[in-house]
Amino acid sequence: MSVFLFDKIVFGPVMSRRLGVSLGMNLMPVNRKVCSFDCIYCECGLNGQLGDKNSQIPSRSEVRDALCSKLKEMQVEGTKPDVITFAGNGEPTLHAEFKGVIEDTIELRNTYCPNARIAVLSNASRLHKPEVVEALKRIDDNIQKLDSGLKETIIRLDQPNYAFDLDKTIQQLADFNGQLVIQTMFVGGEKEGISIDNTTEADISSWLDALDKIKPQKIMIYTIERDTPYNSLKKIPLDQLKAIAKRAEERGYEVSVSG
Ligand code: SF4
Repeated sequence: MSVFLFDKIVFGPVMSRRLGVSLGMNLMPVNRKVCSFDCIYCECGLNGQLGDKNSQIPSRSEVRDALCSKLKEMQVEGTKPDVITFAGNGEPTLHAEFKGVIEDTIELRNTYCPNARIAVLSNASRLHKPEVVEALKRIDDNIQKLDSGLKETIIRLDQPNYAFDLDKTIQQLADFNGQLVIQTMFVGGEKEGISIDNTTEADISSWLDALDKIKPQKIMIYTIERDTPYNSLKKIPLDQLKAIAKRAEERGYEVSVSG
């Protein structure tokens, strides 16, 4: 197992298989994961598994300064990101000043790389917060996680640390009125003797029904790429991902597949 944590606020740029040349933003502590989910496939490891327990969430001004100096450095090198992506060591919308951070990022993007997109990869756990929703409506790529249409599968796979309500989550996602992308991780194998598979017919048909309520502008489906906390998890073969994508495309959705 070699899951890892980010050791900076701003990382990269890296070539993202889903987003292009991506400058990563980590709003959670360096060297510590903080998330409202504890996905069994998380590349940052399980909550509390790795890192420095005393590491703190950076302030809004620390985030702004780190991004500003990286964009200035890239300007000197003559490079620009395609996208500034909020991901990192956990759930970015847990940052207490998430809305302010997004406002700063829009301002810096407009100054240094006006063509770059701003993306947030989120697990949809904070959509009850009006300021989070407001900030997500201001970015270019609002990418929200939905790993199944079945609550029990999501609980098994994503391990939310709160009373997860799938119907409420679907309604909150639908409330973006199409201004969002749905990201779904498909994974198989087993965890501690329990079978893991969110590609069953029940999972896929309920996931498609959920998409019809949410009506996202796009869907990103993918499978595990790097090490995960459990080495008994398995990638879903590309052919199978493509077959799932085809079913969503037949309902009129644009789907990208990363196998
Ligand atoms: S939502 Fe993302 S950061 Fe949080 S546990 Fe899942 S994969 Fe990891």
